[in-house]
Amino acid sequence: MASDLPVSKKSVLILGGSYGGISIAHYLLKHVIPTLPEKANYQVTLVSISTQILCRPACPRALISDDLLQQDKLLVNIADQFKQYPAGAFHLLRGAAIGLDHASRLVSVKLSDQTESIIPFHALVIATGASTPSPLHGLSNDDESHLRKSWSAFREALPSAKHIVISGGGPTAIETAGELGEYLNGRAGWFSSKLENPKVSITVVTSGSRILPTLRQSLATKAEKFLAQLGVTVIKDKKVVAVEPANAGLEGALSSRAMLTLADGSTLQADLYIPATGTRPNTSFVDAALLIDGRVETNPSTLRVDKAGPRIYAIGDVASYARPAVHGILSAVPVLAANVKRDLLGTGEDRVFKEDVRETQLVPIGQSKGVGAAMGYQLPSFLVWLIKGRDYWLWTTAKLWSGEQWAKES
Ligand SMILES: Cc1cc2nc3c(=O)[nH]c(=O)nc-3n(C[C@H](O)[C@H](O)[C@H](O)COP(=O)(O)OP(=O)(O)OC[C@H]3O[C@@H](n4cnc5c(N)ncnc54)[C@H](O)[C@@H]3O)c2cc1C
Repeated sequence: MASDLPVSKKSVLILGGSYGGISIAHYLLKHVIPTLPEKANYQVTLVSISTQILCRPACPRALISDDLLQQDKLLVNIADQFKQYPAGAFHLLRGAAIGLDHASRLVSVKLSDQTESIIPFHALVIATGASTPSPLHGLSNDDESHLRKSWSAFREALPSAKHIVISGGGPTAIETAGELGEYLNGRAGWFSSKLENPKVSITVVTSGSRILPTLRQSLATKAEKFLAQLGVTVIKDKKVVAVEPANAGLEGALSSRAMLTLADGSTLQADLYIPATGTRPNTSFVDAALLIDGRVETNPSTLRVDKAGPRIYAIGDVASYARPAVHGILSAVPVLAANVKRDLLGTGEDRVFKEDVRETQLVPIGQSKGVGAAMGYQLPSFLVWLIKGRDYWLWTTAKLWSGEQWAKES
């Protein structure tokens, strides 16, 4: 790969415009670049497929209707968030990284006009995240208009669906089932443990022996009770072994009817099928030698990609250093930035990252209930609603996207 761009500045290249990429761009522009001896020589370039940043955790509710969440907070323009920096300090490039030559330190990008550009970098942060099987749950490999089209196709089919099946037992599957249950069926009365004869039968099917494996068993049991009150049935210990047609619920067949075959040979018929069985890291452009279990192999202490050469880092769901979650990314940002600074200055100590592995996960179940724990402490349903279920974190993202979150060096 040969560079086709003149090298006038030292490029700090960031791939991916979401929690990891946007945060690290702000942090570097606020606290690292201005402290460097030749600060005018550096440019932070962010490569993003989409012009907008998505509050991704909100997808389970956002996919149902635009009326349920504040739209101007759900998707926010990236360029607007970076107007605050001096001219030339930041550059937004709309496109997808399609190749990384880590030895020659070049990234090739397919630009939104379908042309290709080769970009040399002085430092690189890989923050391309992970894709979900269902296009309803994130931007993945396309832009915001594509996400909105996917939601529209699903919504058109929703009023005539009588049986909806969701595969997976993690928070994405459970939240999506809860949101659909509340929206389509409403909630059982105060003293009923189950919604009898729901308008739409909603089934969650998981290969696991329980749902929500990150949380303690008692919270998983509580979640099942809340789901039952919304007309959602959970089938456990049953792996989906075949889907007919095979692309049902995937790109191009979002509103397709489906027949699912489970491991014991039984079948489930679905008017709508949503696969929610985990994520796939967006690493197709990265040399396989740099990957471990599909993620970019990232030093869990320094967040450097040691095998790739100097000044190459990874953060967020694409990286191997920690469990994929927003709170993990937020605690990694100052560490990664400190190590970029150390490497650009060529002197100083490494800052060390340590993952907080305490039980932390909040799972809203419909519009007024939820289960969860934070830093090892179980939270009551009301608090899960207050912190997350009310608006799926939209109350937190304005500060994050604008960089206000990183106003102080931490
Ligand atoms: C439905 C759902 C609900 C969730 N709820 C929560 C929650 O409540 N709390 C929590 O902590 N976590 C939650 N998560 C996880 C959380 O969303 C992720 O940890 C977080 O979004 C990861 O951020 P990221 O920056 O690593 O990447 P992502 O958010 O995955 O974004 C990656 C970005 O990179 C872009 N990209 C991909 N490939 C390329 C390429 N080749 N070149 C350039 N750009 C590219 C993508 O378009 C995307 O914009 C949820 C995830 C899902 C799917």
